[in-house]
Amino acid sequence: MRNIKFLYWLSVIGTIALSTFSSSQIIALEKPKQLRAQFSQGDLAIEKIANQYGADFSETLNQLSKIEDQIYALGINDIAYFLTYRCYLQVFSGDAEGVTQTLNEYKHLKLENSSSRSIYASMDFCLAWQANHKKDYKTYDLYVEKAFQHALNSPSAVLRYWISFTFASLTNAIGRYNDSIEASQLALGIAIENGDDYREASVRSMLALSEAELGYYDDALKNNQLAIDWYESKNYQNAILELYQNRGYIYISKGELAVASKVFKHAIELAVKLNSQQSIFSMRTNLAAIAQRKGNYQESNRLALSSLKYAQEHKDENLVAHAHSLIAVNFLYLDKMEEAEHAFNTAKEYFERFELINNLADNYSGWSDALASKGDYERAYHAQMAYMQLSQKIYDSEREGKMQKFKSLHQLAEKDREIQRLQEKNRVQSVEVEKAQLEIRVYWLSGIIGFLIISLLILMYRRMVANNLTLQDRNARLDLQRFQDRLTKTFNRRYFEKHSVPLLKNDEGNSYTFFLLDIDHFKQVNDNWGHQIGDQVLVEFCKRLKSSIRSEDKLIRMGGEEFLIIIKSQSRNDDQLIAKKLLLSISELQFITSDGELSATMSVGLARTKPKRNEKTIENIIALADKALYYAKKNGRNQAVYCRDNFNLNSDFETLLNQPIDNIADVV
Ligand code: GH3
Ligand code: MG
Ligand code: MG
Repeated sequence: MRNIKFLYWLSVIGTIALSTFSSSQIIALEKPKQLRAQFSQGDLAIEKIANQYGADFSETLNQLSKIEDQIYALGINDIAYFLTYRCYLQVFSGDAEGVTQTLNEYKHLKLENSSSRSIYASMDFCLAWQANHKKDYKTYDLYVEKAFQHALNSPSAVLRYWISFTFASLTNAIGRYNDSIEASQLALGIAIENGDDYREASVRSMLALSEAELGYYDDALKNNQLAIDWYESKNYQNAILELYQNRGYIYISKGELAVASKVFKHAIELAVKLNSQQSIFSMRTNLAAIAQRKGNYQESNRLALSSLKYAQEHKDENLVAHAHSLIAVNFLYLDKMEEAEHAFNTAKEYFERFELINNLADNYSGWSDALASKGDYERAYHAQMAYMQLSQKIYDSEREGKMQKFKSLHQLAEKDREIQRLQEKNRVQSVEVEKAQLEIRVYWLSGIIGFLIISLLILMYRRMVANNLTLQDRNARLDLQRFQDRLTKTFNRRYFEKHSVPLLKNDEGNSYTFFLLDIDHFKQVNDNWGHQIGDQVLVEFCKRLKSSIRSEDKLIRMGGEEFLIIIKSQSRNDDQLIAKKLLLSISELQFITSDGELSATMSVGLARTKPKRNEKTIENIIALADKALYYAKKNGRNQAVYCRDNFNLNSDFETLLNQPIDNIADVV
């Protein structure tokens, strides 16, 4: 499932991925003589050619053939990179015969160098390009994944970089954000070690997008900023514009709509300077979406209609559909039924035609909410049903896709091993290997056919079962997927926005207390013990919190290692007791990890809701809890600070800090 949540998210990654080679152009032009720690002599020779002729594929191929003998004299890792680049050029210049020759060359190299992962990685990568060129994305995905597995152990730094980067873009595009972050970090490490700041900036741009998806907003913003800084230092205006757009999306994901607006407005200014009409109007659409979320339907419509006009004039169908999707909801709220209906159907038709299931689901979801608010419950219900079915489809296809991917990878790996065994035993004739190679293809084909049959059966079976499943069952399963944090199994921020906020808004009779928690010096845990141990601590941390609260209390991961507990408040006194209990549950016992024991503490900020609240006051409560948390950190950590009920958000916190503690907060 290719996730096209925001208009330009994907295209940015696409551009970066394909510009990996142009990246080398800049490096070599700027520091021609610098010999880098990891990139070999051969890598640099190839990059030099890429720099000079990169844009002209046939001339690059010509130049490459001139250094072929030198490269072959250097050794297997240089050859691997050489062939990858050659394959890339051949594929994308339509030289099918050349590609076949290159693939043949791999076969012999594999025979002679059965242990070189570089050759395996390079060959898989070549096959991936080939599939990509044929628009066979399923095969492309598979070979990139396989190339990545081989590249992990390949001594060729430049191959490791290139393949990791491509794998990271791919996994980002298909929603495997954890994998994407892992691969990006690998690529980032290589770029940094080589002092290769262009590549470093490209990786950071992408890393930020995946981090934002998983709720690591601080890291995402940091990486985005570092990339912006670098591109600004080089004055690469187009890249800066893209990065500001991304920054806007990160703030949207973080729920900071006001900041997001500001960032988009800044990006529009840049786009005006660059005369990039397309960007201007796509960002206006984003501003329209923000206005809609704030309930400013007039304003949202004004922006969306102007984008629509531009998009229609320039035949930008994608933008037309997105604008219509927004306009539909606006018109509904503005009681213009006919216009609303028309806009909704136009968007729907486009999303259906291009099978943009995520967009289609979003289209139904907004529509359904708007219908319900107008009291048209029957149609709202049907729209919600359509939304549910689409969500289920997204969920299913992600899981099945992954299962199939692992199965095929496993089969391909088995075949690889078989070939190796053959040749090690009795130096097989190349004829036999050719046979085995052919077998891979047959195997591969039968795998695909098998998969098709299986999915058909699954589909039929699912249809049968689906009729028997109650709506609640489906709801529960879907909610789990959408509202649960994958690592800690707590609720995620989306849950907070979709469930907690409306609930708190409506339940005016009760007071609720927000406990905002943040682990102390958690960066040090990551730095000293590694990210994996950090993850183990996070999991155990949440387990302890969960067992200290009641089942009706909510534990929500707001991002990174920051959590929110929402409790129906009996009294401030009770809240303080709970805070003490929570603090002890973390500090009292050592955390046992696979690498040893360590201790941890956390800081807590508490704030309590008052009756008559709306979204705004809930935002304020969070902000208050955040201030209290900040104070707890400043005051020495491992403690909880409770905001007074009459504490005013607008008070100047810095000046209050200079006064005795009592003036701003109760320390538990
Ligand atoms: P402070 O006491 O001021 O909170 O110090 P800190 O080091 O904890 O600082 P901060 O809260 O800003 O840093 C949070 C760190 O947590 C940064 C990030 O690398 C790490 N982190 C965030 N999410 C995860 C995660 O899912 N797994 C791991 N292992 N680390 C994470
Ligand atoms: Mg912390
Ligand atoms: Mg933190």
